[in-house]
Amino acid sequence: LNRRLAGHGTTIFAEMSALATATGSINLGQGFPDTDGPQEIARAAADAVLSGRGNQYPPGPGIPELRQAVAEHQQRFHGLAYDPDTEVLVTAGATEAIAAALLALLEPGDEVIAFEPFYDSYAACIAMAGATRVPLTLRAPSFRPDLDELRSLITPRTRLLLVNTPHNPTGTVLTPEELAAIAELAVEHDLLVVADEVYEHLVFNGRHHPIAALPGMRERTVSISSAGKTFSFTGWKVGWVTAAPALVAAVRTAKQYLTYVSAGPFQYAVADALRLPGTYFENLRDDLRRKRDLLADGLAEAGFQVFRPEGTYFITTDITPLGEKDGLEFCRSLPGRCGVVAIPNVVFYDNTDAGRSLVRFAFCKTDAVLQEAVTRVRRL
Ligand code: PMP
Ligand code: GLN
Repeated sequence: LNRRLAGHGTTIFAEMSALATATGSINLGQGFPDTDGPQEIARAAADAVLSGRGNQYPPGPGIPELRQAVAEHQQRFHGLAYDPDTEVLVTAGATEAIAAALLALLEPGDEVIAFEPFYDSYAACIAMAGATRVPLTLRAPSFRPDLDELRSLITPRTRLLLVNTPHNPTGTVLTPEELAAIAELAVEHDLLVVADEVYEHLVFNGRHHPIAALPGMRERTVSISSAGKTFSFTGWKVGWVTAAPALVAAVRTAKQYLTYVSAGPFQYAVADALRLPGTYFENLRDDLRRKRDLLADGLAEAGFQVFRPEGTYFITTDITPLGEKDGLEFCRSLPGRCGVVAIPNVVFYDNTDAGRSLVRFAFCKTDAVLQEAVTRVRRL
């Protein structure tokens, strides 16, 4: 393993999911739903395979039907107009979009400011690009960004801001005011923004605001989303980028040499999914809001300090009230102690002190599974 990837060995998700399988525990670690998305969308994927659509290399930028559906989705939900031919790119999940964007846009030595805790692929991709990450720490209990601190972190080497809202793992949803302040800094310092919006439809109070919609941002923002979270098909790995033509062309150049294309038949099905009626998106959100409360209440009764999230399907907790200090140790012992798997937030921090006692639980699971998990952690 080269120096750039040193310290990025096995992802925490792989480690904890393997532990869940080995111990037969309830897996509230890695974020994936235990119920698949809509049957008619699954059927659309099967139909595409069986009718021979997408079984051979689809076009590199993604099939036209999906690029059109992504453009329509951006207009319908966010009032953003993108040209499906020059301003939309289909990727192998949001993960590839993040990698391709960072590899295409960063020079070695550039600085990237990202909120920490960060989703783990950010740190690895910044490292692979030879750039340097500069964390802006979101601190308990509010996990909101300190915008004065953000300003103070900008140097002549800063090239890019990596903004994730709704934020994994804290559930913070940036307000229009926060986004406006971030956008102003980006314009003032001529920075690029990569906006990871994979949880755009999972917002429980208010709604998601895309930073690309703010003044001066459209031409400097690469917006990223994915079918995994919105349609509960995380295994399909269909994501997309929307951005101005020059940025999409740059990201597409990198994508060509990472995967070349993404799996064809799923693209047809995701094009259908993006056009589902509004009630689909409302029901998904309302259902998850109820599950959030079920798990949050249960974890609070079990003695955790619970930070009820505004978005995503994760709850961050603090284990200090349980007499525990070290989240990593806690998560490694939890399956043996009570048959539940969670994720230690500390692995998403450079300033490990800020995250040492924080632990994340996923609630995209059936009610019976969440109830059983609560019963188990209450025995701690
Ligand atoms: N960004 C964030 C913040 C995530 O939580 C995830 C997890 N799925 C991804 C990106 C990756 O999405 P995908 O599965 O579409 O690659
Ligand atoms: N995004 C999901 C999570 O945060 C899963 C990511 C993964 O397995 N790479 O849990």
